[in-house]
Amino acid sequence: AALYNVDGWGGPYFAVNAAGNISVRPHGSDTLSHQEIDLLKIVKKASDPKSVGGLGLQLPLIVRFPDVLKNRLESLQSAFEYAIQSEGYESHYQGVYPVKCNQDRFVVEDIVKFGSPFRFGLEAGSKPELLLAMSCLCKGNPDALLICNGFKDAEYISLALVANKLSLNTVIVLEQEEEVDLIVDLSKKLCIKPVIGLRAKLRTKHSGHFGSTSGEKGKFGLTTSQILRVVKKLDLAGMLDCLQLLHFHIGSQIPSTALLADGVGEAAQIYCELVRLGANMRVIDIGGGLGIDYDGSKSCDSDISVGYGLEEYATAVVHAVQLVCERRSVKHPVICSESGRAIVSHHSVLIFEAVGMSSVSSAGASVALSADYLAEELSEDYRNLSDAAYRGDYESCLVYTEEMKERCVEQFKQGMVCMEQLAAVDGLCELVRKAVGEGEAVRRYHINLSVFTSVPDAWGIEQVFPIIPIHRLDEKPCVKGVLSDLTCDSDGKIDKFINGESSLPLHEMEGGSYYLGMFLGGAYEEALGGVHNLFGGPSVVRVSQSDGPHSFAVTRAVPGPSCGDVLRVMQHQPELMFETLKHRAQEYVSHDSAAVLASGLARTFDRMPYLVPLSTFDFPDLPAAQ
Ligand code: PLP
Repeated sequence: AALYNVDGWGGPYFAVNAAGNISVRPHGSDTLSHQEIDLLKIVKKASDPKSVGGLGLQLPLIVRFPDVLKNRLESLQSAFEYAIQSEGYESHYQGVYPVKCNQDRFVVEDIVKFGSPFRFGLEAGSKPELLLAMSCLCKGNPDALLICNGFKDAEYISLALVANKLSLNTVIVLEQEEEVDLIVDLSKKLCIKPVIGLRAKLRTKHSGHFGSTSGEKGKFGLTTSQILRVVKKLDLAGMLDCLQLLHFHIGSQIPSTALLADGVGEAAQIYCELVRLGANMRVIDIGGGLGIDYDGSKSCDSDISVGYGLEEYATAVVHAVQLVCERRSVKHPVICSESGRAIVSHHSVLIFEAVGMSSVSSAGASVALSADYLAEELSEDYRNLSDAAYRGDYESCLVYTEEMKERCVEQFKQGMVCMEQLAAVDGLCELVRKAVGEGEAVRRYHINLSVFTSVPDAWGIEQVFPIIPIHRLDEKPCVKGVLSDLTCDSDGKIDKFINGESSLPLHEMEGGSYYLGMFLGGAYEEALGGVHNLFGGPSVVRVSQSDGPHSFAVTRAVPGPSCGDVLRVMQHQPELMFETLKHRAQEYVSHDSAAVLASGLARTFDRMPYLVPLSTFDFPDLPAAQ
């Protein structure tokens, strides 16, 4: 556990149990009445077709824990309630979940359900997101906010006005100045009085990777003069009372509460100015940015960690708003936040299998080598090397082996050295490097996963997630490895880890399955992933705690997209493709064989594109050759 810093990034949901496996505490470790769940047992139940109740799902697998979502929401809510009470703040907190972080139907429905007691709402940034948010909130608390962000056309604005008409507590947030004209016209046309918010471009800028949307030159929001023009336009239209919310978003992963307080304080000043200008202000929406400590270092100097927890975050926000409002004698606004990463990151774990390993440097050191076996020029190198080894002169050993290898490669290119000799020299070099303790060899672990599909941020922005074996954690890992995925693309690899190194301590693969888990990836990764090489998404199970023998119950199990499904994404027609291949078989092989081939092909169309273990492979036998 210490080697992988599980306690640092995993608490209060993940720990290592006595069996050396990852255990999950979906209600957080403080809730001792709940038993822990052994993650390996979930994987076995989900994937093993032979075990009792085994579901036979193919890996990779996303395991979702709705109880974790509930705990995240409740923890965020109580952090704000505590800050509000202890600071004597005279309004309340009412958060929304930005659905872009994970639009999965069950994730959004769970958030609406679990957040209903405290009026938790949703944020949408596009028309389909708005449609899903509208329909989910029909079952939510009627006071829950529906925040409409993102670039808008007349259709988006009309949809938001319809939401308002359906008694959903909808706020249309202006991202661009032109949107105000559309809102004024359409609301008059449809006779619906809107609630309007505006997104301000703050001067406060966050310097990390995720801060590029902040500051004066950021992509979104209105500048000071645009805000003034919007106020004037609304006033002229007799709609200034519709302007009720101020929104801003400094960027994701805000590193410190100092920066947060700076931004919130600036926004609170704008809020008070809008009150002064006659708007009917009620809500300050501080956007997202509540960060996650991916490496457990609690550092505010990196993109993958943050130097605060939920309580410190909430206190900094409440304090900063209160300070400004009191100075300006403005009534305390409702505080809304749009935390996405902090709500959904912990709730799912991506499980995948290592299916093989190889050495990154040479293929192996097992080929016997002697001077007689080598071409003449190389024999001298070999003798020099032996002499240096006898003298204990390890520096020279390394120099001679490298020279020998270089010469050997040159001779191979000219056809003077055979493949066996080349392999033997490679092996010797590795042996010498190992013997003199030079650069521990890093192995390449082949993983049954597509990085582009399941961990796109590792490829796109070099984001680092905690990735560790989910079992054998009571055994010292004695190998260093990088992870190499299934795609035919050299970028399909993971070679940056939370230990700050380019390799991960891993165990030797001993014939059995070796399962790895990627944690804290519940936000963004699923929606960003693509279908490079036509690998689709993973299978998914939803797991809740139960009183049964394994302390968990699988409440939903969905296989990942099949080969047919991913082909359809690229406009192929799997049914027609199958028919074409079946007819071809009928033309080229016997009637019986054609039927067998067709049934084998049908199975491949139906199965996920990932590697299938030989034990579950079942292509039918062809009839004996005629
Ligand atoms: N709100 C807005 C407007 C955003 O652009 C984002 C994401 O970048 C969020 C909320 C969610 O941010 P986070 O996931 O950091 O909480």
